[in-house]
Amino acid sequence: MIDVSRLTATQIRDGIADRLFTAREVAEAALGRIEALDGQVHAFNQVTAELAYAAAERIDDAVASDVVLPPLAGVPVALKDNMNLLGTRTTCSSRILENYESAYDCTAVRRLLDAGALPVGKCNMDEFAFGSSTENSAFGPTHNPWDLERVPGGSSGGSAAAVSAGMATISLGSDTGGSIRQPGSLTGTVALKPTYGRVSRYGCVAFASSLDQIGPFAKTVGECALALNAISGKDPMDATSVDRPAEDFTATLAEGIAGLRVGVVTDLLEAEGCEGAVRDSVHAAAETFAALGAEVGEVELPSTAHGLSAYYIIGPAEASSNLARFDGIRYGHRVGDADDVLDLYMRSRAEGFGPETIRRVMLGTYALSAGYYDAYYGQAQKARTLIKRDFESAFERFDVLLTPTSPTVAFKIGERASDPLAMYLSDIYTIPVNLAGNCAVSLPSGLCPSSGLPIGLQIIGTHFAESTVLRAAAAFETALGFDPTPPLVREIQ
Ligand code: GLN
Repeated sequence: MIDVSRLTATQIRDGIADRLFTAREVAEAALGRIEALDGQVHAFNQVTAELAYAAAERIDDAVASDVVLPPLAGVPVALKDNMNLLGTRTTCSSRILENYESAYDCTAVRRLLDAGALPVGKCNMDEFAFGSSTENSAFGPTHNPWDLERVPGGSSGGSAAAVSAGMATISLGSDTGGSIRQPGSLTGTVALKPTYGRVSRYGCVAFASSLDQIGPFAKTVGECALALNAISGKDPMDATSVDRPAEDFTATLAEGIAGLRVGVVTDLLEAEGCEGAVRDSVHAAAETFAALGAEVGEVELPSTAHGLSAYYIIGPAEASSNLARFDGIRYGHRVGDADDVLDLYMRSRAEGFGPETIRRVMLGTYALSAGYYDAYYGQAQKARTLIKRDFESAFERFDVLLTPTSPTVAFKIGERASDPLAMYLSDIYTIPVNLAGNCAVSLPSGLCPSSGLPIGLQIIGTHFAESTVLRAAAAFETALGFDPTPPLVREIQ
């Protein structure tokens, strides 16, 4: 059997086109790895073998009739379980949507499948994307393939773990405050949060509509660029998606970074809670960038100190409104013996939502309530404006900015579960990017010398600067030569 985990998306597509193997064999290999590994990892809520085989058959038919294959032909992909795909449940890892059957396709998913990808399953996540560890799933945690006792990050932890363990070549996650980049960092994968508006969110269950973006995970920068080619672009079904000329994000990856202006964000590096190995890794990365010909300097983003506070007003405020539809009538689990409609709402929601979801709805409802709106929501929006301005002035001097992705490497399952604030602090470096709407990639910058766990570097670009960010990431990736294969997966090879 072919080992899909060792092939890039392009090698899979080309291998099928050259008739070295069939798309069906690729599907079998990916599903076989899920069978072998997912009992330990629990990256998937649902495995969609039938859909994968049906898509593979269409690719194999195209090969038989000499049709030119699309760029992701035969590539196994996994989808966060907040994205609708006909023929699957979309649970958001919540009891309230445990039996919800997708009624239509999410645009980003549809575009990936139209590019030839094989959908192998729906991935575990923190309930409604609230969390940084995937422990807030109603269906049990996902385990980090680098160390099964540790979290894979979150909220898109299942999507990250699926790619890390070689069960999918590319996966999709959603990122509201770091939910693609932070799990990317903790699992040693490459994870991209596109600019707000670059990718349609139609069909992705909304968390905070002014922050949410869909983006890819892969083992290489090039594969993330390919995935972005497929999923980006205007969609009439999402008014926030931006109409821009199509770009090939792979075209400039190999151009190098001579003269690129790279700013190391020094005040963020000094933030309390940042592990020494993480800080060292950013400094080492800055040296690598300089050696590659970049002009490296220092910059500060002082207003980002308010990022976490502003995010935990704005995020829950929007979430409390977006989650109102899960009331047992319009959507979701319904208690059978309600006395009246209020009783039905209250008990259906109390039974269907987990504790973090309830906390977010309460926080958001409070922040928006009459008398508190200006003090909380109004202030948070002002802080958001200041953060945006900090980025704008930094991008006058620099093309890209460097920070850690996460202040720590992967933590133990259970370690932060009972302390919401400790969990929230996992995202201090990623949240400001969502508040400002910028794009950023996280990619491995090495292993922590004491734990042997991956450390992630965040490269931030201004709005719609994905090509520059990905080019910088590609140059760094080549220079570093990181092996993204976790020990668990090496053992079974
Ligand atoms: N961890 C952050 C939160 O809990 C971000 C989540 C996300 O990006 N979806 O809100």
